[in-house]
Amino acid sequence: MSDCLFCRIVTRQNPADIEYEDDAVLAFKDIYPKAPVHILIIPKRHVASISEMTEEDVEAVGRCLLAARRIAEAKGFGERGYRVNVNTGPEGGQVVYHVHFHFTAGKRGSAG
Ligand code: AMP
Ligand code: ZN
Repeated sequence: MSDCLFCRIVTRQNPADIEYEDDAVLAFKDIYPKAPVHILIIPKRHVASISEMTEEDVEAVGRCLLAARRIAEAKGFGERGYRVNVNTGPEGGQVVYHVHFHFTAGKRGSAG
């Protein structure tokens, strides 16, 4: 998916401020942060949207949530708490069609 912005970040064809990486997941700072900490967590495998995910994508998408836990603990939010949300489809506010979890933290009620 060379025309997908987030796939291009995975392959380092586009820049990003990377916060976390493992074999299945990449996480990087949102360029327009809406909270003191705002990180996007994506599966390296291209999955366009939750509304298009299949059984084959379950592992990759689930690994994003495990990455969220690891990022939270590494940044000291494990106990304080944080928000993880996924915008889906036009009326769900999805702009980039490569599944991404907004990880937001650092203020009460921080929205993604
Ligand atoms: P969504 O509306 O859920 O599709 O969220 C897309 C998010 O991607 C927005 O919060 C944007 O600020 C963010 N974004 C767009 N382009 C980039 C980029 N090149 N690097 C990091 N974040 C980006
Ligand atoms: Zn993609």
